[in-house]
Order: sequence, then C-alpha cells, then structure tokens
Amino acid sequence: MRLKHIKGSEEKVSLSKVVIKNPEQYKGKWKSVFNNKNKIYLEIGMGKGDFIIENAIRYPNINFIGIEKYASVMVRAVQKLEEINLPNLKFICTDAKNVNTLFQKNITLIYLNFSDPWPKKRHALRRLTSPYYLDKYEPVFQEKKHIIMKTDNRKLMEYSIKSFTDYGYQIEDICLDLYREDLAENIPTEYEKKFVAKGCPIYKIEVKKD
Ligand code: SAM
Repeated sequence: MRLKHIKGSEEKVSLSKVVIKNPEQYKGKWKSVFNNKNKIYLEIGMGKGDFIIENAIRYPNINFIGIEKYASVMVRAVQKLEEINLPNLKFICTDAKNVNTLFQKNITLIYLNFSDPWPKKRHALRRLTSPYYLDKYEPVFQEKKHIIMKTDNRKLMEYSIKSFTDYGYQIEDICLDLYREDLAENIPTEYEKKFVAKGCPIYKIEVKKD
C-alpha cells in the first residue's frame, strides 16, 4: 500500500480523545474504558475507519476497537469519529504484532478487512493471517476464537484458508463472490468500495476455534 504522509497526523492522533494512549495499561481491563461489560470486537488494519465507525453506529450494544499501524492513515478515522463521538468505539495506533500485549481474554471477534497481501513468498509471515499473527491473536480472545476476513485478493484468500485450517480453525462460512449474495448485513470498507466499483469479486471467510 502506498502511504501519503499527512502533515501533523502523528500529533493529531496522539492528542485525540478517541485514541487510547498507553493501551497496555488496560490489558485485561478494557471494560473500564467503555464503562460496561459489552462484548468487544476488534478490527485490525482499519485504515480510514468507515467499516468500524458504521458498525459502532449500527450496533451500540457492542464495543469496537480499531487498530491501525500508521497515524497518517488513522487520522482520517479520527477526524470522522471526533465529529460524531460514539461511546462504543476507540482507536489504537499500533502494529498488529502487539495485540497480545494489549488484550487478555477481552476480545470476542477479530475483523481483518482487505489486509495487505504481501505477495512475495519471503514476506508470507507479514500477512495478517500467517501463523506468526495467529499466535499473537490466540490469547486475546475471551472464549472461542472467531475471525471474519474479507479480501479482493484470491492468493491471500487461498493462503488464509490453509493457514487458518492448519492452525486448527474450523471454517464456519465462506463466500467467493460476496456481491452475488444477500448484502443486507454487509458493511463495506473503503478498499471494498474501490474493488467492487472495478468489478472485482470479494471473498469472505468466517472461522472459529475452541
Ligand atoms: N481495512 C481497510 C479497508 O478495507 O479499506 C484498509 C485496507 S489497507 C489495504 C490495509 C491497512 O492495514 C492499511 O491501513 C495498513 O496500514 C494496515 N496494516 C497493515 N499491516 C498492519 C499491521 N501489521 N498492524 C496494523 N495495521 C496494519
């Protein structure tokens, strides 16, 4: 993904009330951030935030946390959220490799939307569905491990099916052309809108593990 540097984005993100600072302090105690015991859903690599913001609006009884590595991308989501101020949504600016230092049995569901495909074989472990990251996700889940992924990238989809099942995940649902199905529940991401406009099929997989 090409990254545009946005002047002042680091400062804007670090000063915003919607972004959690020093998130490690809440490990195992995320209920205190939201002041309730509702489930917490996590999106990793949330980009500019359309998907998670719409989810938080649609499902006020679920708490949402969006993780994004780059402040210059997250700043757009921060600007949107500051305008509408949703109590059930917070952001963390960090790398996905740190999730196991932030959460301990706090998370019910992880969303991975249009993650970078890292097509070269030597970069396979950088894919967010590689065993390296699945190891990181393992301790964050409250009970059953539950991941929902969408992508336009067939090779990433094939890799992820194998990676999930090799790791012990069961496939609950799989769709090889999401836009031919009933889309009533679907919340599109920024990348999804672009790929759908180009006529690309969208793949979706939902996996669970005890
Ligand atoms: N999910 C958004 C969407 O569907 O529109 C953005 C997709 S974009 C291709 C991938 C996003 O994941 C980028 O914003 C990138 O910075 C973020 N990302 C990639 N690797 C990451 C990592 N290891 N930790 C956190 N975010 C990551």
